Amino acid sequence: MARDTGPQCKQCRREGQKLFLKGERCLTEKCGVERRSYPPGEHGRGRMRQSEYRQQLREKQKARRYYQVLEKQFRSYYDKASRQPGVTGENLLRLLERRFDNVLVRLGFAASRRQARQLIGHGHWLINGRRVNIPSYRVRADDVISIKPNSSAADVVRSATELTAAVPPWLQADHDSLTAKVLRLPDRSEITTPVSEQLIVELYSK
Ligand code: SF4
Repeated sequence: MARDTGPQCKQCRREGQKLFLKGERCLTEKCGVERRSYPPGEHGRGRMRQSEYRQQLREKQKARRYYQVLEKQFRSYYDKASRQPGVTGENLLRLLERRFDNVLVRLGFAASRRQARQLIGHGHWLINGRRVNIPSYRVRADDVISIKPNSSAADVVRSATELTAAVPPWLQADHDSLTAKVLRLPDRSEITTPVSEQLIVELYSK
């Protein structure tokens, strides 16, 4: 499973905002963006040119890093979104939001997407009673998510639930039994990802 293994705080600093890639640490004063609010690298504190292309590129990179998706995979999400009816940018975010690893984070069952991918990859989760070990699995309305009976990851998942303030309205979670249900697909207004999807569409439409 290919993935981005670079330093995560650097990714947030490059985008100039918290992308919450490290779970609990992101909520503390140890957060890399809190400590050093300038881009990484030798020229991080220099003046940055703000071209239109740069803005579009940064927005795409931010979305990619937020969902922890590689370039090729991100591009194929975009291609799929552009073939769907409706607004391409919204379709793109909706496709990314429905990824199984993201859904576990939204439900509060994982502290970060990286942790969610690990839990899924190790076979700790079931969807509609069947083991799903593919982080990119796209959830559907009425899917029932549950932890594998007697899973050794139950304690880790329970401590992740303590970091979650609220579950989005398109999902329903039971933090006691570690089960959840996808009530419906998300509306754009319910996706809290800090990106302007229109800039991504402009980048790929060139
Ligand atoms: Fe980003 Fe979290 Fe690192 Fe802060 S601690 S810079 S939010 S990954």
